[in-house]
Amino acid sequence: MKRFHVVSEEEILRGRVTDVYFERTRRILEAKGLDPHVTMEASARSLPRGDWGVFCGLHEALELLKGRPVDVWALPEGTLFRPGEPVLRISGNYREFCVYETALLGFLCQASGIATQAARCVIAAQGRPVVHFGARRVHPAIAPMVERAAFVGGCSGVSTLVGGELLGEEPVGTIPHALVLILGDSASATLAFDEVIEEGVERVALVDTFGDEKFEALECAELLEGNIYAVRLDTAASRRGDLLAIAKEVRWELDLHGYSDVKIFLSGGLTEDDLPALNEVADAYGIGTAISAARAVDFGLDIVEVDGEPVAKRGKASGAKQLWVCPECGHRALTLGTEGTRSCPDCDTEMSPQLLPFLEGGELVRDLPSPREIREYVRSRLPESL
Ligand SMILES: [Zn+2]
Repeated sequence: MKRFHVVSEEEILRGRVTDVYFERTRRILEAKGLDPHVTMEASARSLPRGDWGVFCGLHEALELLKGRPVDVWALPEGTLFRPGEPVLRISGNYREFCVYETALLGFLCQASGIATQAARCVIAAQGRPVVHFGARRVHPAIAPMVERAAFVGGCSGVSTLVGGELLGEEPVGTIPHALVLILGDSASATLAFDEVIEEGVERVALVDTFGDEKFEALECAELLEGNIYAVRLDTAASRRGDLLAIAKEVRWELDLHGYSDVKIFLSGGLTEDDLPALNEVADAYGIGTAISAARAVDFGLDIVEVDGEPVAKRGKASGAKQLWVCPECGHRALTLGTEGTRSCPDCDTEMSPQLLPFLEGGELVRDLPSPREIREYVRSRLPESL
């Protein structure tokens, strides 16, 4: 009897997380003595928001396919893709991998949705750190995956122990309302935090629990003079009115009293749409639901070749394709066939193939970068504005 409504790694690897029609298809092909060599491509017709996404979830997808007789080409994790562009291609005998389609898409769709939304928040924050606080909005079994996708998408930090462990990063946190409520006020909670928690952890006072943000911020700044990194405003929406005005008032008073180096950290139900206005006064953001509960990218995994012959359902282009991007002018092109080189039609520069081999006959043929390396790659390629 399972205590939690989750599957084990072993059940995923055995293909138990499959829509039943794939399992039935496998049985029918087996009964008919058929096992064609099939090529499938994953692509998304549209995106939850905007016209680009951050590809994520590949490393888990590779774990599922490793050791099976299949070839996998894909965009490296963190690559920006557009609707209609292939992000992953699998070739092999269909009966070997058809029951994994549900799980494969699950890995890619949710992680890419979260990474894309994290990247959008990072762009909206215009250089201010965005910390992921959304683990509490998802099933705990997937918290590490969610935090990794948020981090890869550009977040500066994650909040849970397990997320930090997966990423090899120290988790980030401030002070919860619970500690303020139990110790009686913001100042007592901040002092206790400073006494007990090891040096090196930034002191961030939470200044909205009982009193006014401005007066609590000043009180905490005075108590911990020289040793307070930031004040966090997590003001409840029902009391918030104009969060920008409240934060500006806090900034003004802190500056006036000589605490201009104390930063302002904003959290509490923020979305990418809130940030442009708040950037005037915020130094950093904690963002939860807007990232962790991001809409999934609707990747589909479609057959494009059967036994070497191009074939596809209505609405999909048949044949194995390569995506090319010009490193000089950014021109993007899709071509049938995956070999050779292509010159940019706009500037004649040699274009770079984007789908790269990852598995050959189930063997990993490429080193996988660390989450931090992927994040820096993503950050270096994000557009400057949404
Ligand atoms: Zn070009």
